[in-house]
Amino acid sequence: MLPDPPPCRFCQENLKDRVAAELDSVVAIADRHPVTEGHHLIIPRRHVADWFGMTEKERREADALILILKPTST
Ligand SMILES: [Zn+2]
Repeated sequence: MLPDPPPCRFCQENLKDRVAAELDSVVAIADRHPVTEGHHLIIPRRHVADWFGMTEKERREADALILILKPTST
């Protein structure tokens, strides 16, 4: 029998206070440990293991959030 996978912190954590932008299927939250200024995490509302588990709609909306959050100085 395989061991249980580690719990998903995004599903466990209440992210509502951290949402910077959202669309129907995905949300963007400010990274607590940003690798660059303005770094955000874009997460589907539905639990998925990784990018490959996302639907086409989730990927399309994730791309749209990247453009919404794109820094205006570049
Ligand atoms: Zn999850």
